[in-house]
Parts: sequence; C-alpha cells; structure tokens
Amino acid sequence: MIVKLSKNRAAAIMQILCQTYHYAQCELIYNSSFQLLIAVILSAQCTDKQVNLTTPKLFKFYPDAESLAKAPIDHVKELIKSIGFFNVKAQNIINCAQVLREKYQGIVPNKLEDLISLPGVGRKTANVVLGVAFKQRAWTVDTHLNRLARRLGFSQNNDPYKIELDLIKLFKTQDWTFYSIVLIFHGRRMCKAQNPSCSACPVNKFCPSFDQQKRQFKAIKS
Ligand code: SF4
Repeated sequence: MIVKLSKNRAAAIMQILCQTYHYAQCELIYNSSFQLLIAVILSAQCTDKQVNLTTPKLFKFYPDAESLAKAPIDHVKELIKSIGFFNVKAQNIINCAQVLREKYQGIVPNKLEDLISLPGVGRKTANVVLGVAFKQRAWTVDTHLNRLARRLGFSQNNDPYKIELDLIKLFKTQDWTFYSIVLIFHGRRMCKAQNPSCSACPVNKFCPSFDQQKRQFKAIKS
C-alpha cells in the first residue's frame, strides 16, 4: 500500500533532506549546456560515475555540436564503448548534434518542447538540462526519484509524467530543481532500490514506507 502525505509532512521531509544534502548538485561533469545535454543522454541506464570517466575523452575530440555532428560514428562508438547501449547512444548523440547544428545554430535550446524534439532526448533529459544548465524550475523524475516519490508518499503513481504532476502540486515552484537533485542524492546514498538504510535515514520518522515496515515486523513477531 502506498500512502499519500499531507503538504506539511512532505515539506518537513524535504526540509530535513535539504539540510542533509545541502551540498547536492548535478554529479555529471560538463563545460557547457551542450556537454551537459550529451552527458545526460549517455547517463540513461548508466551511472554518472561511468559517464564522467567517458566524457572527457569524447569532449576532447568533440566539444561542441559542430564537431560532433561531423564525427565518424565508429570513432564515437570507440570513445563511449564503456557505457551501456553505446551503439544506440553513439547514433543518438551524433543525430542530436546534427539537429542542433541545423535547426539551432549549434546552441542548445532552453524550451522543453524544443529539447524533447531532439534525437535521444526525453522529458527527463530535457528537465535536467532546463534545471541545471538554464536554472529553470523542473522536476527530474529518474529511476531514483520515481522510487522515492512512492516510498515517501509524494505520489501513488508509477508513470514518471504522472509523478511529475503530483510533485508539481505538492511543492513550490522555486524548489523543484534543487529538490530533484536532493532526492536523487538520497536515493543513490541511502534509499537504494534494494536494502534501503531505513534505520539510519534522517527522515524515517516521517516516511510511510518505514512505518509500514515496522508494522509488518511487529505483526510477524506477535
Ligand atoms: S525511511 Fe527508508 S524508505 Fe523511507 S526514505 Fe528513508 S531510506 Fe527510504
């Protein structure tokens, strides 16, 4: 059963998490909005750590849309081969660079509808770029935020877009981008998919999933 929280309780959770991860920021390494966009495309089904080990080589040869648009695909594949799905991703990032060059003069657009029209760019990728590179307010519902939103009772949905709509209703606009980053930090460090560290978690007293676990434990013992 997934419990839905009141706005006050949700705000209390986020206040604690923001204090805990006050230093949180996007963990991808990049030097421009273009490099962030490419790094986020590469990060699908892959850790940021692995992407950060790979992108310096890629950006050394192809630092911008103009150069990547003309890159031989075999060379790009070779440069990113340590990343999962590198064949598809190599094609996507070259196609993306070509569209940027042809339609946007090589500049990453700052509108959601333009970003999601680019090859390899979905709503999550677009929202990371809008929030991090352009400092716009955006929720990034990745696999961590998807899981945490339900565990913490912020949403009862599984679909990322529906979760985003629930989060939009629950929190103030100015907090969306930082809250996304903080929740992703918490998901990576403590509220992991398998064996979350609930007993050490700073928000366990507010967390409906932890309450539920305790009730189940008591029921088993009695
Ligand atoms: S108490 Fe457990 S399930 Fe709840 S947020 Fe913390 S780690 Fe996640």
